[in-house]
Amino acid sequence: MGSGGRLPGDDCDRDWIWSREAETASAQETFGRAAQAWRAQASHVQENSGFYRRKFREAGISRSPVRLEDLPRLPFTSKEELKQAIEEEPPFGSNLSVPLERVKRVYQTSGTTGAPSVIALTAADMETWTEIGTRTYYSTGIHDHHSVLSTFGAGPFVAGHTHFVLSRIEARTVPVGPGDTERVIFGLRSGIADTLLATPSFAQYLANRLEQTDPEAHTLRLTHVVTGGEPGGGIPEVRDHIEAVLGATVNEIMGIGDVSPSLFGECPNQQGMHFSGAGLVWPELVDPKTQEPMEIESGAVGELVYTSLRREAMPVVRFLGGDIVRIEGTSCDCGRTGFRMRCLGRRDDMFIVRGVNVYPSAILAVVGEFRPRVTGRARVVRPDAGTNVDPPVEVEVEVPGDSAGEASLAEQIEASLRSRLTFRCRVELLPEHAFGDSAYKTSLSVRRPG
Ligand SMILES: [Zn+2]
Repeated sequence: MGSGGRLPGDDCDRDWIWSREAETASAQETFGRAAQAWRAQASHVQENSGFYRRKFREAGISRSPVRLEDLPRLPFTSKEELKQAIEEEPPFGSNLSVPLERVKRVYQTSGTTGAPSVIALTAADMETWTEIGTRTYYSTGIHDHHSVLSTFGAGPFVAGHTHFVLSRIEARTVPVGPGDTERVIFGLRSGIADTLLATPSFAQYLANRLEQTDPEAHTLRLTHVVTGGEPGGGIPEVRDHIEAVLGATVNEIMGIGDVSPSLFGECPNQQGMHFSGAGLVWPELVDPKTQEPMEIESGAVGELVYTSLRREAMPVVRFLGGDIVRIEGTSCDCGRTGFRMRCLGRRDDMFIVRGVNVYPSAILAVVGEFRPRVTGRARVVRPDAGTNVDPPVEVEVEVPGDSAGEASLAEQIEASLRSRLTFRCRVELLPEHAFGDSAYKTSLSVRRPG
């Protein structure tokens, strides 16, 4: 396991049955279809979104339609602006572009800063999300003959939409929801599921626990773990451990709440997540600092920006997703032509030590090598809201159980971080319970209160 290749039970003939054409189209074909979809979407936005009408007017954009190739002329949309749009015209805001009675589903966003916000969908929007999600999950290798135990809740967050996706794929679904470890373990031991959907934090927690209590965990019927909700499933040190303990292949998916709850899916080749939104969402890559457009090509590191091509209720135009990604390639042995990428972390989590950009995921990778003396979870404590951090960088590392860890462990991790990342860190070991509920996401960086 873990060496790539096909998942057990894969049958290639039926691969991409959902959107084979969209997912294997050439770059030119994809652009042509997107440009056509954008023409209709652009008029919809101009005519029906008060938020964008005002935004474009303020940016001096004329009323004549903007072609897809001219998209970079339009201003970016930030998460904060979308939130303000909600607040100025509650409950759905000035970007609601359809009559109220056409809103058929409402999700709340997790609201990492302040109050939660809402996302409204029409029936057609729900279908678009299901279509993108189906491509995403299907690409990970979840097909109709699989049995999927999902630890994603039905709501309030957008990950709940996964339940529609699994129904569309016609997989057997075992909904458990977050925070019920005993039921997950029962489900896996009893053999009712061969696939697990979880955050990487929870998958790690499960692997750590089963490693201690069940040395035969790799013989469970579980063959496949799909992680989502946060980066981690793509970090080799995290992935290898979960794969080794559970005897399962790990690949990851990623979504952006305001765009689509799943938008990227990693195929069994495990070489990064494919963009799965062809024809429905238009992606751009920009420099995280200057916001200048960048080419989507192997090795490029930038922030992804999204424009909806088929969204009725709350369309987004050049939405800054906040995720910094590295492009891994633009073709794949699986035949999909959607580019592949790995998420390095949130733009807000990035910090600068002596002029060098650092993502908490790099620290996570080093800490993970100290398993089983650590659980694999860690976070950076930043002194203030600024992006510049002077060494030593403070890192909290979770250790198993209630112990405070071995005396020399912190020093050993510090030495390893120093040699790998070239700056000094100060490591504090924290017992497991101090990190909070492991079924939920782990914040990769926190700011010192006060
Ligand atoms: Zn692939």
